[in-house]
Amino acid sequence: MDTLLKIPNELEFLQPHHKFAVKATSFKTQKHGILSGCWKKTSGGFGRVRATGALLDLVPATKLENLDFELPMYDPSKGAVVDLAVVGSGPAGLAVAQRVSEAGLSVCSIDPSPQLIWPNNYGVWVDEFEAMDLLDCLDYTWSGADVYIDDHTTKDLDRPYGRVNRKKLKSKMMQKCIANGVKFHQAKVMDVVHEESKSVLVCSDGVTIQATVVLDATGFSRCLVQYNKPYNPGYQVAYGIVAEVEEHPFDLNKMVFMDWRDSHLNSGELKERNKMLPTFLYAMPFSSDRIFLEETSLVARPGLDMRDIQERMELRLRHLGIKVKRVEEDERCLIPMGGPLPVIPQRVVGIGGTAGMVHPSTGYMVARTLAAAPIVAEAIIQCLGGYGSRRSLGGDELSASVWRDLWPKERRHQREFFCFGMDVLLRLDLPGLRRFFDAFFDLEPRYWHGFLSSRLFLPELMFFGLSLLSHASNASRLEIIRKGTLPLVKMVSNLLQDKE
Ligand SMILES: Cc1cc2nc3c(=O)[nH]c(=O)nc-3n(C[C@H](O)[C@H](O)[C@H](O)COP(=O)(O)OP(=O)(O)OC[C@H]3O[C@@H](n4cnc5c(N)ncnc54)[C@H](O)[C@@H]3O)c2cc1C
Repeated sequence: MDTLLKIPNELEFLQPHHKFAVKATSFKTQKHGILSGCWKKTSGGFGRVRATGALLDLVPATKLENLDFELPMYDPSKGAVVDLAVVGSGPAGLAVAQRVSEAGLSVCSIDPSPQLIWPNNYGVWVDEFEAMDLLDCLDYTWSGADVYIDDHTTKDLDRPYGRVNRKKLKSKMMQKCIANGVKFHQAKVMDVVHEESKSVLVCSDGVTIQATVVLDATGFSRCLVQYNKPYNPGYQVAYGIVAEVEEHPFDLNKMVFMDWRDSHLNSGELKERNKMLPTFLYAMPFSSDRIFLEETSLVARPGLDMRDIQERMELRLRHLGIKVKRVEEDERCLIPMGGPLPVIPQRVVGIGGTAGMVHPSTGYMVARTLAAAPIVAEAIIQCLGGYGSRRSLGGDELSASVWRDLWPKERRHQREFFCFGMDVLLRLDLPGLRRFFDAFFDLEPRYWHGFLSSRLFLPELMFFGLSLLSHASNASRLEIIRKGTLPLVKMVSNLLQDKE
């Protein structure tokens, strides 16, 4: 059945301004290969980009940093069947590997670069990490955040924000895995063959690994998890740099969650394009001369062209008087948002990007995934007889039980509402988004915190929606009702179809 349901895991990009398509078979290829290649071609003289060049000339060659400790490797010659094989050692995969191995079960973690320090700059709300006792894994925190709606209105968000210390978080998880006996295999998984009580993973180096349970945690590559509906996500696209600057205008106590000002764009084509497909600045000031700056398209379908975003960023920085002296690193961010959930249940279990866990209205996921990992791990442990208990389930039954715990009805309904939110955001232009966020950040904190951190469920989300309408200006209320009616009908129909 799995083979029949498989649809190609490809992200297709129709660039709105260039009328060409870029296809990538994996997100990593897209992030580090095609998009960066794309950019180099442009700066090399295709000529459309006017303002870029100076900034990108400062970007160093990609510097990949590895953790500096030895990993205990999986020995294929023994041919043992491990209890759990985790494919992918991003935050999602390692969080589950750590928990399941703690219960005394055997775990093998497979990744082409197991020691690589994660490349993404993760930002989270401090309360989310505090709840998981992970405050020691934040390297910078800000007491609050600013949202610039336009030149005249700024929202002062009284909610601490933090940047994840990705080296510390990954080291901590890896060291716990090592202490619990997890074995590592450095390769790419190419295929899986299921038998009644076990599955066999086929790796790029020819090694096969047998496991009772297979967990796909390959992020947006979606290596093994199957989808049976057309994949039609929105895309968050962003370009970010960690930079040494002469100076910047931002308060060091606050991060900039969103800066929707557009005064850096003179009237004309760029301003008009930004009106229809807006981008905002997200910034984390580390000191008076070191800052993370990211120009971001919240969500668009198809996703915005990276070169367009880089061009806007360069103009914005110039307007803000930010002179970049040195770029330490850059990131090209491409996050598929919304779209259908994978087939539930299916034999391979999943977590993180591969399992539809990105917040469809925001693109955030790290905190939610780390919080969900113990739930997935516990379901696996119970079924496999961890903690010395008797094995109760295997094969398809086991996987069905894990999927049920990862995506219970209330979580599926919550996601449906967030997809509705994304559909509304997709329809708003810059003035519409400004009105929307003006009302959104005026909501009671329990509503906007709860929405952003996936803490509200359907009944509360209804009150959230009503509260948002009551805070909105008349123009915004009318617009949300007008542009939200179709998405609302779609959401209700999906909720009615979701009977189980
Ligand atoms: C640039 C960027 C910035 C982001 N910033 C934030 C943020 O600030 N806050 C937030 O909450 N979310 C953020 N996200 C969204 C999301 O949290 C991240 O994408 C997160 O890394 C997803 O975690 P994951 O473990 O599911 O997948 P990943 O982190 O993508 O890890 C997947 C792993 O699987 C491995 N893999 C892939 N294919 C195979 C294969 N065939 N065989 C074996 N291994 C394989 C990869 O090598 C990788 O190590 C960001 C995303 C991006 C791309």
